[in-house]
Amino acid sequence: MIAHLKGRSATVLFNSNAITLSQRLGRALIDAGLDELRVSLDGTTPATYARVRGVDAFAKVVANLERFVEVKREAGASNPRVSLWFTGLRDNIEEIPALVPLAVRTGAAGIYLQRLVYNGLGLATKEQSLYGRLQEHEATLIRETERAARAAGLGFSASGAAAPEISLTPSHDDRPWSQCRRPWSLVYVTVHGNVLPCCIAPWITEYYDGIVLGNLYRQSLEEIWWGDRYLDFRTAIRTDVPPEPCRGCGVKWSL
Ligand code: SF4
Repeated sequence: MIAHLKGRSATVLFNSNAITLSQRLGRALIDAGLDELRVSLDGTTPATYARVRGVDAFAKVVANLERFVEVKREAGASNPRVSLWFTGLRDNIEEIPALVPLAVRTGAAGIYLQRLVYNGLGLATKEQSLYGRLQEHEATLIRETERAARAAGLGFSASGAAAPEISLTPSHDDRPWSQCRRPWSLVYVTVHGNVLPCCIAPWITEYYDGIVLGNLYRQSLEEIWWGDRYLDFRTAIRTDVPPEPCRGCGVKWSL
């Protein structure tokens, strides 16, 4: 699939936990032309990683990434670029400064502070959210991480390319969801061909059918993109009564 998309001049990237990133798979990703590998790493110690991600695999992931650096070096390849994605929680934010040396050690080019979108399951709870509830000590940790990343020549950003601390600070806009550009800039397609407005909506909606804006097995992308469902969704998101999944965006978590 990666090679097919690269043959059509697309930029190709995906997120992975890298638990199964073997030497053979790493080489295959390089040969296929993958542009970026985004690795979810929600802790910088084995204990926190296991608590947040529910699997005791921190050492394995780090070892896999270190080996992947070697595989890239042997292949003389600069791609895929590796980035580390850290979902910020009250439970793990103390560890974010250690993400910088870990990124250097594993050859990552950048680190990201990811928003927590919560639905009450597991650690995805309001109590764990930092959005609008960032304490001074936590803000200091993020600023220290920014400084260290800059000194190490690493990028450090947040979801939506916002600066990390800004991404945790709610706007005072009356309808912050209206700032979302996803319904005009991208589509999210499931393996069943369903076209959704974004990757966030399916995790938080209580009415999945309401976010299915078309299906690529039955309609062309053009028909879906300009169809009534998409047009209605775009209209509603600019009002005080947005589509149901959009109501938490910019209110409960960052856009
Ligand atoms: S759920 Fe959030 S991210 Fe998705 S389209 Fe609505 S406002 Fe945008």
